[in-house]
Amino acid sequence: MTYDTPGFETVAIRSGQRRTNEFEHSEPIFATSSFVFENAAQAAARFSGDEPGNIYSRFTNPTTNIFEQRLAALEGGEACVATASGMAAIMSLCVGLLKSGDHIVSSRSIFGSTTTLFDKYLTRFGIDTSYVDLTDINDWKRAVRPTTQLFFLETPSNPLAEIADIRAVADLAHENNCLLAVDNCFCTPALQQPLALGADVIVHSATKYLDGQGRIVGGAVVGSQELVGEELFGVIRTTGPSMSPFNAWVALKGLETLSLRMTAHSQQALKLAHFLEQHTAVEKVFYAGLESHPQYELAKQQQSDFGGVVSFVVRGGREKAWHLIDSTQILSITANLGDVKSTITHPFTTTHGKVSETVKLQSGITEGLVRVAVGLEYIDDIISDISRGLDG
Ligand SMILES: *Cc1c(COP(=O)(O)O)cnc(C)c1O
Repeated sequence: MTYDTPGFETVAIRSGQRRTNEFEHSEPIFATSSFVFENAAQAAARFSGDEPGNIYSRFTNPTTNIFEQRLAALEGGEACVATASGMAAIMSLCVGLLKSGDHIVSSRSIFGSTTTLFDKYLTRFGIDTSYVDLTDINDWKRAVRPTTQLFFLETPSNPLAEIADIRAVADLAHENNCLLAVDNCFCTPALQQPLALGADVIVHSATKYLDGQGRIVGGAVVGSQELVGEELFGVIRTTGPSMSPFNAWVALKGLETLSLRMTAHSQQALKLAHFLEQHTAVEKVFYAGLESHPQYELAKQQQSDFGGVVSFVVRGGREKAWHLIDSTQILSITANLGDVKSTITHPFTTTHGKVSETVKLQSGITEGLVRVAVGLEYIDDIISDISRGLDG
């Protein structure tokens, strides 16, 4: 970049691109598994690491590199490594950072597969996880053990939009010689930059807002050159969950409109949240952009907007919630989010279906809860589609 202090949108559109001899305007897709060398000596120098350059697309690929450099710049990190999925990013982080006997402290409301990774698979390798209340710093303090290495959180939480004080959790992690990893899927760097608040590493599901149009599965890890550029790069190039060049191209084009989309998702979600809040068939709305939200002030400080996910409890439990979902004609009934297409889901019986009833109710996942990931269709159409089942 040759700009003095380029703004977020300029970085999202311009950074990372290196034009080839063909002078293409848009970024090219390098659909190649391997790269050739001018001679045997160059091959030897590339393999030994004496000469930088491409060898094989499991290690590096020029299209994937553009996505990585662009996302690193947007998060304010030194390095980024792209992965085949968001879960591959989280798994690689754990493999790179942890060893047998280590301990993780994690917020309780995290993505379902992340919980399964921690509880079912990492435990096999002698790594234990304690879960804490995202919003209660004393709960985090109490959970720390001498073997704790990693703090992990998602904010805003899914589906109840609770907000973690990233700075406070980062300080606590560092006092205990631990690293803080933040899953920044819901806000993206367009709305929240956890590294600037003290987090050490960011994980992403590029499947969600980074692509933003529901076309690919992908992920990324962002952080320091030492941790991500060297250690995690080594893990990923060796174990293999690299991002394909085509998926990287889709995601890097997605980044170009990220800021615009996140602003629009947030505006639409706030309108829906206001509408739901005054509706007599709705018991409670969970959205950090509402002044009634207990952490509205913290969310306003830490985020530049509130994101696209709104959850609410309808009166009448599961029957009414399912009726509402089944009455929609535009919204997609699917658990995915981060798409221009609005989606609607019943967390109790889908995303949290395997969680025990006690834990669900403890964490506020009730039978009447509905989650909407507000897309970019005309907002009045989204609201009337949801009204159909509320009024009926
Ligand atoms: C979807 C999601 C993931 C996992 O990402 P995949 O790309 O599906 O592997 C992780 N964290 C959060 C918050 C997610 O929403």
